[in-house]
Amino acid sequence: MTYSYDPGNVFARILRGEIPSRTVLETDHSLAFHDIAPQAPCHVLVIPKGAYVNADHFAAEASAEEIVDFTRAIGAVCRALGVAPGEGGDGYRLIANSGRDAVQEVPHYHVHILGGRPLSRMLPPMGG
Ligand code: AMP
Repeated sequence: MTYSYDPGNVFARILRGEIPSRTVLETDHSLAFHDIAPQAPCHVLVIPKGAYVNADHFAAEASAEEIVDFTRAIGAVCRALGVAPGEGGDGYRLIANSGRDAVQEVPHYHVHILGGRPLSRMLPPMGG
């Protein structure tokens, strides 16, 4: 497997402090910040600090420590935003667009956390 990471992407620039972001949470290996064009009252992006292009790159090459940190960061953000059902929240959706068919715009792995309003079904039915 070969993955080519573009260090000029916008999330790499956020990680280097070259452009601002509205931080929600920072951990050893992860950063969460508000999406610049929110599609729901809660729309936060969680990214690993490491140079991973997408979900399969992260799964293949990230350390166990990074993967645990990232997974726990997502959970912590959901709780902090008040959307975690386990703590009385109304729920949320995680989206990780990876590659062309998924229309991934920023080539640094990220998970969208969306919530704060009822979300429509995931996708329209095939052929519908
Ligand atoms: P995706 O299509 O999954 O790659 O989504 C990329 C997301 O990054 C979009 O929801 C954008 O609104 C968001 N985005 C792009 N630039 C920034 C930025 N500078 N700060 C925060 N979010 C951004």
